[in-house]
Amino acid sequence: MENERYEGHVVSIKKDLVTFRIDEIDSMIKLLKKGRVHFDLTEHEPEQITGIQRRKAYAMIHDIGMAQGCEQSYEFQKLKVDLKDSFCRKSGYGSFSLSNCSKYVATDFISWLVELCFFKGIPFQFKDLVNTFDTERQVFLCLVHKRCTVCGQTNNIQINHEDTVGMGNDRKHLNHRNHRLEALCSYHHLEFHRLGSKSFFDKYHFHGTKLRDEQLIALKLMSQKQMQEFDEEYEREKLARRNIDE
Ligand SMILES: [Zn+2]
Repeated sequence: MENERYEGHVVSIKKDLVTFRIDEIDSMIKLLKKGRVHFDLTEHEPEQITGIQRRKAYAMIHDIGMAQGCEQSYEFQKLKVDLKDSFCRKSGYGSFSLSNCSKYVATDFISWLVELCFFKGIPFQFKDLVNTFDTERQVFLCLVHKRCTVCGQTNNIQINHEDTVGMGNDRKHLNHRNHRLEALCSYHHLEFHRLGSKSFFDKYHFHGTKLRDEQLIALKLMSQKQMQEFDEEYEREKLARRNIDE
């Protein structure tokens, strides 16, 4: 792990005894337990990469390395350099360091790593993604690549309708149009229905996203024929209701 940074705020000063409150104390405690007791104190730069971002970037690089069969630390080091190079070439950013780059570069780099993993089907830890990656984009990519939006796994992926009450596989539930959709594994799908959409959102911080007709077809979530059948069915229902009203 390279140069961890912790943000803190001064609580009190008594002569040369300064007390700080540390924002991310859990990860700092881990270092303290390893015997690291000396830390540098530098002025806060609000635009600089955060500790969460740095850990997420390294975790992503680690997951990509594992998928590519890296074992030695020099292999991971080389992978990091290669990934940063190709990100810079694609994005137009100049070379940067994960120890002190701006948080905007870090956000873009992490997003690029996440997209790369989705695109290449590389398994990666979804942990900490909420604070580092565009959530709506994550929901969309999970639908495209059939991954659980909560945990990232690819087995038994089900499409959840956020706005429908109850679950079941009734016909209405198969019409994915005009619904906020999200891909969930069977475990998290059950959890969604157990908690209800509000508590589920409070816990995981994302909502489903609506897809356009052509996206639903491209993702094989619906066929043109199914859409036509639903349209005809609703048309018949509308007519039937009108006949009753008259
Ligand atoms: Zn899941």
